[in-house]
Amino acid sequence: MGHIIDGKALSAAIKEDVREQVLSLERQYGRKPCLCVIIVGENPASQVYVRNKVKAAAFTGMESRLEALPEETTEAALLGLIASLNADPAVDGILVQLPLPRHIDEEKVIDAIAREKDVDGFHPGNVAGLWLGKECIVPCTPAGILRLIDSTGVSLAGKQAVMVGRSNIVGKPVAKLLLDRNATVTIAHSRTADLATVTAQADVLVVAVGRAGLITGDMIKPGAVVIDVGMNRNAEGKLCGDVDFASCVDKASWITPVPGGVGPMTIAMLMQNTVSCFLSRQ
Ligand code: NAP
Repeated sequence: MGHIIDGKALSAAIKEDVREQVLSLERQYGRKPCLCVIIVGENPASQVYVRNKVKAAAFTGMESRLEALPEETTEAALLGLIASLNADPAVDGILVQLPLPRHIDEEKVIDAIAREKDVDGFHPGNVAGLWLGKECIVPCTPAGILRLIDSTGVSLAGKQAVMVGRSNIVGKPVAKLLLDRNATVTIAHSRTADLATVTAQADVLVVAVGRAGLITGDMIKPGAVVIDVGMNRNAEGKLCGDVDFASCVDKASWITPVPGGVGPMTIAMLMQNTVSCFLSRQ
């Protein structure tokens, strides 16, 4: 049976480490890092995510602000709030919870966040930095995925890595991070012919699609490291990933569960990114 990568435990350790960093930063600089989370509207899933982010910030001891704006907030009002947070020296990180209501242009909003306060790493300046190999804020989920792979002790150099999914927030940045570690990277997507042949080549397989049970045991290489980013609800309403855990766990050398794998790491890396933003502004 493959080893299960415990994202919950790793996330707890990272948050504990951030808590110590926050204490020492306060001693050194006389103030704590401060994260501001903005939510617009009543999307129930977004409200849970935002609550968890604020809770994690409280655990680490950093300052946090929550700006909960009504659904009918105009784009201009949101951009105005971001401009004031950009100019506020007490704020280190700004996160706008996505998706935004349809009358607000998400791209415009992301572009408006000061690059050095962009804790999500979605600003074009940070995206360019990632692809050009320059200093940047790495998006939280991809950064967490690399930490999960590192926790196995498996080296990526020279390995075949397959990224299934090519979104801007997960697939593409993960592929670049794997490339930076000298893996030979293949990116698969909805138009990939014969996905099973591609995934069966992978020493390291990362799946971010959003389809429950897309990857089954017969599609993976024996001994592969399998990272499941998917968050889906099955017919019984239970949270499940894109990987069919039951048929893969015996064949993989390491595998992440859902829940308890990638999910908790995203929040831990958000805390770490807030500290990085604080430090870059000193
Ligand atoms: P997305 O933007 O919808 O992208 C999905 C990708 O999967 C696309 O590139 C799509 O290909 C590809 N795809 C769709 N059907 C496919 C198939 N049959 N075979 C191969 N590839 C296929 O999704 P996302 O934002 O990257 O998120 C993916 C999943 O990860 C979702 O379940 C999401 O909830 C989860 N997620 C979890 C976290 C976390 O913190 N745990 C964070 C972010 C996302 P095309 O490009 O060709 O359309």
